[in-house]
Amino acid sequence: MRDIDHLWIDGTRTTPLEGTVEERTHPADGSPTGRVVMGGAADVDRAVTAADRAFDHWSRTTPEERIALLENLLVEFDRRADDLADAVTEDMGAPVTLARGAHVPSGRTQIAGAIEAARAHAFEERRGNTVIRHEPLGPAALITPWNFPVLQMAGKTASALAAGCTVVLKPAESAARSAEVFAEVVHAAGTPAGVFNLVHGHGAVVGSALAAHPGIGVVSFTGSLTTAVRVTTAAAPTMKRVLTELGGKSPQILLPDADFDVAVGAVHRWMMAMTGQLCSAPSRTLVPRARMEEFLSVLVPSLEALTVGDPRDPATDMGPLVSEAQWNTVQGWIRRGLAEGARAVTGGPGKPEVAGGLEAGHYVRPTVLVDVTNDMAVAREEIFGPVMSVIPHDTVEEAIAIANDTPYGLAAYVVGADRERVEEVASRVRAGAVLLNDAELDWTAPWGGYKQSGNGREFGVEGMLGFLETKVIHGG
Ligand code: NAD
Repeated sequence: MRDIDHLWIDGTRTTPLEGTVEERTHPADGSPTGRVVMGGAADVDRAVTAADRAFDHWSRTTPEERIALLENLLVEFDRRADDLADAVTEDMGAPVTLARGAHVPSGRTQIAGAIEAARAHAFEERRGNTVIRHEPLGPAALITPWNFPVLQMAGKTASALAAGCTVVLKPAESAARSAEVFAEVVHAAGTPAGVFNLVHGHGAVVGSALAAHPGIGVVSFTGSLTTAVRVTTAAAPTMKRVLTELGGKSPQILLPDADFDVAVGAVHRWMMAMTGQLCSAPSRTLVPRARMEEFLSVLVPSLEALTVGDPRDPATDMGPLVSEAQWNTVQGWIRRGLAEGARAVTGGPGKPEVAGGLEAGHYVRPTVLVDVTNDMAVAREEIFGPVMSVIPHDTVEEAIAIANDTPYGLAAYVVGADRERVEEVASRVRAGAVLLNDAELDWTAPWGGYKQSGNGREFGVEGMLGFLETKVIHGG
């Protein structure tokens, strides 16, 4: 148990000017993990002032100087990899194997990708007598969620620093431990004072003060749609750029010749392993009606064989949800689906029955809802838990229509044996990322959504471009 009693402002641990202290508990068993200080608007002001002061120097560094810092960051990140993974497990309950095998490596890839982006990008180009320059937008506010905290914090920070922006990070309330280790990493890398600042705090207080602050040049926000609307509204009077990476209700389209082992593999990897707490989870599975029973006969036993349990145990396949509030939300969605006429072929309300008991943790049963139509709330809203809606289709055209009938457009999954048809379907789905036949995700590729899944692109060159503005020197 360790308390976090400070913010990071102007290169040092700093006592907040205002705010409260809150207890944190472990998602696995509710045991206390320590207290965290929550800053206030005055702390935001101090952090933005420090970031603004540092911007004068950092924005004028060469790409090589910024790369040198990011390379140090990578060394320190690797040195603290196990601490980062343990913090993720403690914060949000990710199984330790997932924290070490996915959460931390995906964050590392983002730092390495930002180095490559800064190396490859032409920050200045000449067109005749005209010079086009890409310059950093100003101090960047980075507002991050709890579900993939290291990836989000590392990705946004590295992209912003590579662009020449200074940073004020506002991590999620439930990811304070991961944020603290990450701040130690950034500090140990030799980051100049004021270039990186971190203010723990509530979204409605610290997040909204950052979004509204006139000293902030760009906001990079990842989180829910509801919060994104608030952030964008708070930022609007100052016309700063707001990059948004939001939720999804991603379809998995199974074509008539789909291999169901491949489809179920994707369900495990992108939905169940994360306890459904992934923005791009395949939460709507669209199955050829004639093969529905066959699909369920592959899916259901595989979910019932999952080991749900303590995330600190390497044998655990699926850990708890992040919090009691999230547990209640997910239970509410399952009950609402059943009330709307859906049927749970496995799972359902309540906690899983496991030897040793899981009553103290925020555990849920992997749940498959059938008899779902695409107009039901469980098929339209992001649940952020291990709850799948399975929807039949009679033709590929109908499957594409159902896939696109959503306010979101973050990811889609297409499974089928006929490669040409798989690619044709992928080209017709309105989503920022389409994964074919349970493909590996390329974590260096740009990431972001269509429609209400947001307007930004993260990672690599595209991630860095979000923090840059174009200046033209005529007669240069
Ligand atoms: P959230 O919207 O509740 O919170 C996100 C962040 O915003 C937190 O740091 C929070 O403190 C802050 N915040 C809350 N109210 C605010 C306000 N009024 N002004 C400014 N900031 C405020 O989201 P969450 O529950 O932390 O994360 C889950 C959501 O994030 C899901 O919807 C998920 O799909 C989405 N997500 C998207 C991506 C992506 O890449 N598209 C990645 C991860 C998570």
